[in-house]
Amino acid sequence: MPAKPVLDKSYDPKPVEDKWGKFWLDEKLFVAEAPSGRKKFSMALPPPNVTGSLHMGHALCFTLPDIIVRWKRMQGFNTLWLPGTDHASIAVHNVIEKMLDEKGLTREKVGREEFLKIAWDWKAKYGGIITSQLKKLGCSLDWSRERFTMDKGLSGAVRKVFVDLHKEGLIYRGYYLVNHCPHCMTVLSDIEVEHKDHQAKLYYIKYPIADSKDSITVATTRPETMLGDTAIAVHPDDPRFKKLHGARVLLPLTERVIPVITDETVELDFGTGAVKVTPAHDPTDFALGKKHGLPQVIVIDGSGKMTDAAGAVFKGLDRFDARERVLDRLREQGYLVKEEDYEHAVGHCYRCKTVIEPHLSWQWFVKIGPLAKEAIRVVETGEIRFIPANWTKTYYEWMYNIHDWCISRQLWWGHRIPAWYCPDCGEVIVAMDDPASCPRCGGTKLKQDDDVLDTWFSSGLWPFTTLGWPEKTVDLETFYPTDLMSTGFDIIFFWVARMIMLGLKFTGKIPFRYVFINGLVRDMKRRKMSKSEGNSIDPLEMIEKYGTDALRFTLAALAIPGMDLSLSEERMAGCRAFANKIWNASRFVLMNIDEGGAATGGGAPAPRSGTAADKATDETAAAPAPRSGTAADKATDETAAEPTLADRWIRSRLAKVIAELNESLEGYRFFEAADKIYHFLWDEFCDWYIELAKPALKAGNTATRATLTEALDQTLRLLHPFMPFITEEIWHQLPGAGKSLVTAAFPEPRPGWEDAGAEAQMKEIQDIVITVRTLRTENKIPPQSKVSLWLKPHDGADTRLIEDNAASAVSLANLSGLSVMKEFPAGKKLLKGMAGAWEIGILLEAAIDTGQERQRLEKELAKLEAEVEKAAGRLGNADFVGRAPREVVEETRAKLEELEKKRDKTKEHLSNILAL
Ligand SMILES: [Zn+2]
Ligand SMILES: [Zn+2]
Repeated sequence: MPAKPVLDKSYDPKPVEDKWGKFWLDEKLFVAEAPSGRKKFSMALPPPNVTGSLHMGHALCFTLPDIIVRWKRMQGFNTLWLPGTDHASIAVHNVIEKMLDEKGLTREKVGREEFLKIAWDWKAKYGGIITSQLKKLGCSLDWSRERFTMDKGLSGAVRKVFVDLHKEGLIYRGYYLVNHCPHCMTVLSDIEVEHKDHQAKLYYIKYPIADSKDSITVATTRPETMLGDTAIAVHPDDPRFKKLHGARVLLPLTERVIPVITDETVELDFGTGAVKVTPAHDPTDFALGKKHGLPQVIVIDGSGKMTDAAGAVFKGLDRFDARERVLDRLREQGYLVKEEDYEHAVGHCYRCKTVIEPHLSWQWFVKIGPLAKEAIRVVETGEIRFIPANWTKTYYEWMYNIHDWCISRQLWWGHRIPAWYCPDCGEVIVAMDDPASCPRCGGTKLKQDDDVLDTWFSSGLWPFTTLGWPEKTVDLETFYPTDLMSTGFDIIFFWVARMIMLGLKFTGKIPFRYVFINGLVRDMKRRKMSKSEGNSIDPLEMIEKYGTDALRFTLAALAIPGMDLSLSEERMAGCRAFANKIWNASRFVLMNIDEGGAATGGGAPAPRSGTAADKATDETAAAPAPRSGTAADKATDETAAEPTLADRWIRSRLAKVIAELNESLEGYRFFEAADKIYHFLWDEFCDWYIELAKPALKAGNTATRATLTEALDQTLRLLHPFMPFITEEIWHQLPGAGKSLVTAAFPEPRPGWEDAGAEAQMKEIQDIVITVRTLRTENKIPPQSKVSLWLKPHDGADTRLIEDNAASAVSLANLSGLSVMKEFPAGKKLLKGMAGAWEIGILLEAAIDTGQERQRLEKELAKLEAEVEKAAGRLGNADFVGRAPREVVEETRAKLEELEKKRDKTKEHLSNILAL
């Protein structure tokens, strides 16, 4: 009676993924327990933008922590991986404003209220795209706890943090330089500024030194801003200006006198090495001005016109007209030294293409110093660790040079700043509840600040606000601090540092123990993937083509700590083939075990005997083993309940892989874990063990049947965090499978299974098989032709071992027979080789046409000789070695070495053939 096929003939990922993806959610397998008596493991998902659509960077950033959380869940932890999305102010603005633009509208035309309504509607409609893609990726997130940075609870928390920090004096209002479009009369965020190369002029202007005949010359592309200069800066070590340190300079065209200051940030090779400092009209100068306490003189207003402070001559002029007028005056008065062509990038408004003007305005700031101090300390003490550790240095560099954080944004979508202004008395009110009247003068014409908070303000609170803070919730008690944060290096400062600062400030605890920094996903030429370059690989397309498991496994296998990933579709196809391999091997196993055939569910592998096993024996033993070994094969003759060598070997290997995999995952070495399970499954389990188990199965060996089942069960558990769908599907076909692999026990190290003797013996057999296979390939013996193997033992060869396992060797090396003999009989044509202590002889019957093979090898050898000569000749040429780039020389040298190796090998084959 043929065994019933339990899995489809070939693996089709789509239906399997749909089925289990739904099952896991329906059964609430990812929902965390609170309160819980179990040890917890918790993470917060880095919230993707509501405007987001899954790209490869996401896929990596979400797959790796999913591997960890699935592993921890299987280890028995009460795991929480909390999902959610970020409101993403600017990204949403871009989407909505584009929609408005298509209707000929602007956000100013529709007004704040209507704009927000449109934005919420849009969010309701499209904000779930990224979350459905996360489900497709198999992320084991607790959707019952999903959050959004603008939902009620989180918004309340944001307001509390703002009010509390303000009360403590850690939030203040100050003048700040922002990007401003004089045409749209609006402030632009950095990403709304388009930079275009511009052919301009660099003007050299001479400033006279006060009480001296000397002067100092500076270079600028925007001469009109000189009217707002408040200092000249030079590098402290620049010998050209040593004598001018602290000097005073007369600012041409004005009545003002300004100082010469020194600063390390001045570039020695720009212009003359001395730079004008205009704090009110240039971002670099603004920072420099803050540092040195320089005054800010505003000479251009919000509409791009010159102000009173620019002087009576220039007042009211457009900034570009003023430029010409300033240059004329400088020329007339002999201050313009020279002008030269200069190409540089100029920022333009993304909407109207007007050249943007840096503009000083009132903004809100977080005073960062006191917060940063604590955030540095917890990393220094190791309470928070970066993986890889080298990111710690980057973190310190940022944190030691941190500036106050400008948190106001001139946008509408986001958390509106809870500050009100009283037009009657100028009072500023910051409060938890919207004020009805001014507490100072009783005025009721209060106006709320128009701006919203920087998106990073709310996401900086993410690890604890998502758990219910400021309420003292059971979730907060149970899951905070979280254990792991997985993210990209580009937001260590924007996000990670702020979560640490704000977490410590408001909960008194670190927000997470480990920060895992992902590499960048690049293409095979190590170029960054980008849509505009056309070299990006779409994860959703890959899922469609190869299945989610293949995508996940590929990313894990490439995730080497501290390195970027080189991704290609071929890698994905390779992992898809791996899925097929697992599927086919599992089908074989399932067809060879009967329903009561083996224990699963994490129990010890019991060598079994009994009624169920007996029945199975009858069935499989019905087919005679197609073998013709010359040596005895004990496995078939004995009572079939003793584990074979192969059984003991695979258990020993499995024990090692379990230990290694747990260790790799403890260290977040995903590539290493993936590599281990891949090679174990493909090479050892599929290619060796299954082949070795065949004769024993045919003979009805119940121990082999139990080991095979147990090994498959354990392997599926090991692989589940990486490839959750296919493993779940197969596992359910195993006898005694539980509800789901999601909550099944992860294999624990089993020292009792380790068996050094079995591994050594197995190696001896593998060596022989591999040597035969190599001889077969090298001599072009067709795979279907069987050959006869003769073995001659040298010192240390285990004859008994080979005799006992002859059947395995016969099937693995495709032999017609195997004989152990003291001497090879004379006069036989043999292909010879060595495998450990065994001398190998393959008896050639009609396997190959020696004449033809000889001709082929002679031709090949001649070709190789010529190539070797050519390469050696080039390297012998001093001219080539001296002149060619080093890489080329190295390449040639490596090539020569390879050619020589090939030539020697071919020579050896040829002599082998000639000896026949
Ligand atoms: Zn504009
Ligand atoms: Zn008032």
